[in-house]
Amino acid sequence: MRLSRSFLPTLKETPSEAQIVSHRLMLRAGLIRQTASGIYAWLPAGLRVLRNIAQIVREEQDAVGAQEVLMPTLQSADLWKRSGRYDAYGPEMLRIRDRHERDLLYGPTNEEMITDLFGQGVKSYKELPQVLYHIQWKFRDEVRPRFGVMRGREFLMKDAYSFDVSYEAAVDSYRRMMLAYLRTFQRLGVRAVPMVADTGPIGGDLSHEFLILAPTGESGVFYDGELETLDWLGEPVDVADRVSLDKFFSNVTSYYAATDEKHDEDAWDQVPGDRRREGRGIEVGHIFYFGTKYTKAMDISVAGPEGEAIYPEMGSYGIGVSRLAGAIIEASHDEAGIIWPDSVAPFKAVIINLKVGDATCDALCETLYAAAPEQFLYDDRTDRAGAKFADADLMGHPWQLIVGPRGAKEQKVELKRRATGERFELPADEALARVISR
Ligand code: ATP
Ligand code: MG
Ligand code: MG
Ligand code: MG
Repeated sequence: MRLSRSFLPTLKETPSEAQIVSHRLMLRAGLIRQTASGIYAWLPAGLRVLRNIAQIVREEQDAVGAQEVLMPTLQSADLWKRSGRYDAYGPEMLRIRDRHERDLLYGPTNEEMITDLFGQGVKSYKELPQVLYHIQWKFRDEVRPRFGVMRGREFLMKDAYSFDVSYEAAVDSYRRMMLAYLRTFQRLGVRAVPMVADTGPIGGDLSHEFLILAPTGESGVFYDGELETLDWLGEPVDVADRVSLDKFFSNVTSYYAATDEKHDEDAWDQVPGDRRREGRGIEVGHIFYFGTKYTKAMDISVAGPEGEAIYPEMGSYGIGVSRLAGAIIEASHDEAGIIWPDSVAPFKAVIINLKVGDATCDALCETLYAAAPEQFLYDDRTDRAGAKFADADLMGHPWQLIVGPRGAKEQKVELKRRATGERFELPADEALARVISR
């Protein structure tokens, strides 16, 4: 993308409505704009980030056998009356009436709809397990929308739902999803720690929230620092094998990790002092098992081996895709701006032309840009160098390819790594190879 022709409206001033750093930086870097309370438009760079996050989430869902669907945002109230949640959900649900006086709602979540769709398509126990997910906008009329996209009213969520023939099989689905989540967050360049969460009337221990450590988080967190050092991408887990899943899950849950709601001082005392991590965290994902709650309430069953009715055991699994854009910034920024992990950055690199109009600079910049125009942002504006550097740091591109008249004569560029501030003077092709290989 050529910066001179793009809609990337950066702000020099700090917007007064933003209380936390990620919100300020998202506005300043031109990623989002608020259009109504808790409702945001995603501008070109922001949309690239959102899509990159969604794509990683999608790949890891697919890798554990979940199938993507797309359910609508608007749902019929009748569906929710069948589960009994239409009245129970309360004022967080946005209720709408159409011209024929039919009650609709903007979906805050999709348990009812997916259970209904499942019931229409699956008739026999032989077709289980089924895991379905979608990445779709949700609406929750939060009392206090705040912190930008972190607590919006309209927000993008990945929600998956599993249907299994038995409790044991549902536990396997839960564990597969735990693995998918750990891999997803690691690929997103953040450490999200799985913490025991409340299971409410369902009971048991199959509910985990994934939290990213940040001082602005809404929950207090206590966890064993070892959890941050584990490599889930390298972990060989055979997701088709119960023993392998069990080994993986026992390993993850052997480390202490809980939010303040579930914190247990006695268990905490067992964690070696130098490994105790205490602070605040942002919930970016939540997985839980709730058994036959919806299948029974909505009377959705499949035929068992003897033709008997079996109510499938369910779990649901959410990831806050739009919240993650903010949460990643909370975890990765400095005074100058955002520091995007390579995997989610809107552009791999910015090419900074220090002397637009100089034939040698322009030619070298064009060559660099042509190598990967879909991945590079080319700062071809005639602004001062200082302003270009400030914008590059603010927007947080992982690499900066800086082209000035002196270096350009020798086909050399200065390569800067945003995260470390390291600078290298390199022949243009070598710099390009380094950036593209990442
Ligand atoms: P919170 O405790 O922050 O209100 P929740 O527990 O109500 O979240 P879930 O129902 O577990 O949320 O939804 C799954 C995920 O959706 C959450 O883990 C979070 O990442 C995201 N999410 C929930 N509410 C919002 C919101 N208002 N804005 C942005 N993301 C949200
Ligand atoms: Mg909530
Ligand atoms: Mg919560
Ligand atoms: Mg939750």
